[in-house]
Amino acid sequence: MGHPDEVDVIVCGGGPAGCVVAGRLAYADPTLKVMLIEGGANNRDDPWVYRPGIFVRNMQRDGVNDKATFYVDTMKSSHLRGRQSIVPCANILGGGSSINFQMYTRASASDWDDFKTPGWTAKDLLPLMKRLENYQKPVNNDTHGYDGPIAISNGGTINPLAQDFLRACDAVGIPYTDDLQDLDTSHGAEIWAKYINRHTGRRSDAATAYVHSVMDVQSNLYLRTNARVSRVIFEGTKAVGVAYVPSRNRGHEGQIRETIVRARKMVVLSSGTLGTPQILERSGVGSKDLMDKMGLKCVSDLPGVGEQYQDHYTTLTLFRVSEESPTLDAFLRGDPEVRKELFQEWEISPEKARLSSNAIDAGFKIRPTEAELKEMGPEFNELWNKYFKDKPDKPVMFGSIVCAAYADHTLLPPGKYITMYVEILFCIPFVLKLQTLGSNISCVIAAFSCRTRSLPYTDRNTLLVGARYTEFLIGKLKTAELFALAQIHIKSPDPYVEPFFDSGFLNNKADFAPIRWSYKKTREIARRMDAYRGELTSHHPRFHPDSPAAATDIDLETAKKILPDGFTEPGTGMTEMGCHVGNFIEQRASSPGESYNASKVHKDIQYTKEDDAAIDDWVADHVETTWHSLGTCAMKPREEGGVVDGRLNVFGMNVTLVTKCGQRRVTRCNPGTQNLKCVDLSICPDNLGTNTYSSALLVGEKGADLIAEDLGIKIKIPHAPVPHAPVPKGVPATQQVR
Ligand SMILES: Cc1cc2nc3c(=O)[nH]c(=O)nc-3n(C[C@H](O)[C@H](O)[C@H](O)COP(=O)(O)OP(=O)(O)OC[C@H]3O[C@@H](n4cnc5c(N)ncnc54)[C@H](O)[C@@H]3O)c2cc1C
Repeated sequence: MGHPDEVDVIVCGGGPAGCVVAGRLAYADPTLKVMLIEGGANNRDDPWVYRPGIFVRNMQRDGVNDKATFYVDTMKSSHLRGRQSIVPCANILGGGSSINFQMYTRASASDWDDFKTPGWTAKDLLPLMKRLENYQKPVNNDTHGYDGPIAISNGGTINPLAQDFLRACDAVGIPYTDDLQDLDTSHGAEIWAKYINRHTGRRSDAATAYVHSVMDVQSNLYLRTNARVSRVIFEGTKAVGVAYVPSRNRGHEGQIRETIVRARKMVVLSSGTLGTPQILERSGVGSKDLMDKMGLKCVSDLPGVGEQYQDHYTTLTLFRVSEESPTLDAFLRGDPEVRKELFQEWEISPEKARLSSNAIDAGFKIRPTEAELKEMGPEFNELWNKYFKDKPDKPVMFGSIVCAAYADHTLLPPGKYITMYVEILFCIPFVLKLQTLGSNISCVIAAFSCRTRSLPYTDRNTLLVGARYTEFLIGKLKTAELFALAQIHIKSPDPYVEPFFDSGFLNNKADFAPIRWSYKKTREIARRMDAYRGELTSHHPRFHPDSPAAATDIDLETAKKILPDGFTEPGTGMTEMGCHVGNFIEQRASSPGESYNASKVHKDIQYTKEDDAAIDDWVADHVETTWHSLGTCAMKPREEGGVVDGRLNVFGMNVTLVTKCGQRRVTRCNPGTQNLKCVDLSICPDNLGTNTYSSALLVGEKGADLIAEDLGIKIKIPHAPVPHAPVPKGVPATQQVR
């Protein structure tokens, strides 16, 4: 059946938030026609989506059906020692939930309270947090839900290395807890839950949970995939439809061919933190200066669009583990025998197969001790005092163990590995050097104009302050240092042209100290594990070889086990002269030839200033996104650079009036665009200290409630039953397993 060219609600972007909105609304009212338009492919019954253990493959560019879009910093960053960072984000139905690592984490209660928006406190949101969950773990608190569409469990198997990790965490002062995701606990370690259904072994993605489930039982949800929304169509400031283009521009001599769909009641933008602001700008909603530059009619002058990009940082360090350790390395390398064995195991009993896990079975959240804070220096302490000190529920970092090398295996020596995956739970870049701006200064001026223009212009003094502030910024532009946030903006109205993107990573000097701290902490944990056998020096900072902090590679006994028949095997004169790995692990705990012995580890490694500098260089060279983008269409007052209000309506046109009593120009804000909402993580006005899938679902649930209220319909609880298997021939599509 062809799709209608007019529906009631159009949802643009099928990530977690978009799937929740489309699915909830369509299920609530079978007479409401809802269309979901997604830029990537359909994920339905895709075995490369639903088998949890193959998640790393989703980041590959296979050139046929890429599941991610790769945003690359437009300019080289001096803060990253000349590097351009890459931020991949989803390009498939289900968005991040179809390709992510499936780690279940929730934000702290104070993260939501910090939004300072009525209706969005943790207390307000708790019922929605519960209604989305089908929590499948035992627990001693009342913050989880049991009848929702999103399954959360420990997965089919837990790797024994997880317990080794938890014991080591305890040894460095991180106690075991049974629920780190209770919105309150900020210092502890646990068996980490996953978005995996323990009955089926499958990934719990948002499209299966919210969209396929409804499409199986109703016919009012229209799904259009491989279609990129180019812009919203307005009549005045009222959104009346959208235009979309094919995701690949391969016909019509490269001309852009748009298809128009009209929306009688609502257009919802859910294309994610990096997608939604681009659609808004192409539609004439954004900084007027940018609109003028692009030759676009300005529907609403909103300089906050595309600004204040935020994320989290990650670094990955690799450690050797004993040959007896059950890691997934051989599978990741593509060893044909191991692949066959694991895939067969999945076919027979997926619910308990090794592939029904993400191999990330344990982790911790932590806050620094007083002594650690002292060591972290004044810049971080300033941030700590402002952001963390009085909010004891906020962790500063979390770390977890991946039971394999999460790395390019073509670059790794043979052997078994674990990866320490750490995440610094904020990234609020604000100091930007001129050299990173290059020729895009106008973009940056546009960025600042939001601050200056948003000051209350009715107040003469403030206006003066505003003018001075502009002057100050421009003056600073000349003298090289600016206060700014990271950003994404269109470079052309053409939906196929890549945007200008600045991740802002490490622009803020305060960010180095916690990352350095996280490296040291996870290193101490790794070397206290029984399975530990050394560090893979190529994946650690380049300390001076004489430094007691220098990374030390594999112990000789383990090396012998890896290549027992090799002609240059350890134990020969060659290796003892230093050809083996350059330096010996026994500097730490053993003597040459002996196996590593974690029971001898009682003291932490001591680092000099030079060692810290080596860590910082390594951080600048290696720090990555954690794929937790948020904040580019922030829900906050327009005067502060906000883009949406508390009901997620996009702010409307500014109308310039001349008052009676003089020449004073007064800018008044129209209450809003009509029928246009943003519902995804772009609306977050502040960072969330969590892996963000849970937050995206929650924003979707809240958005669905707000839209349902606007439309006068009621969300149905529980949601439609979640389909769990490919449709068997002649049998109803939905199996009722939850
Ligand atoms: C590799 C990776 C690993 C992650 N690991 C975890 C994890 O382990 N745990 C966790 O909690 N979180 C994780 N996350 C984060 C989480 O998945 C995201 O925060 C979440 O998906 C964000 O949801 P969203 O709805 O805001 O946007 P997105 O998930 O980004 O969805 C936006 C959707 O819109 C589509 N789109 C974009 N532009 C257009 C357009 N113009 N027209 C039509 N469609 C468009 C995209 O294709 C995409 O499907 C991970 C994310 C990634 C990418």
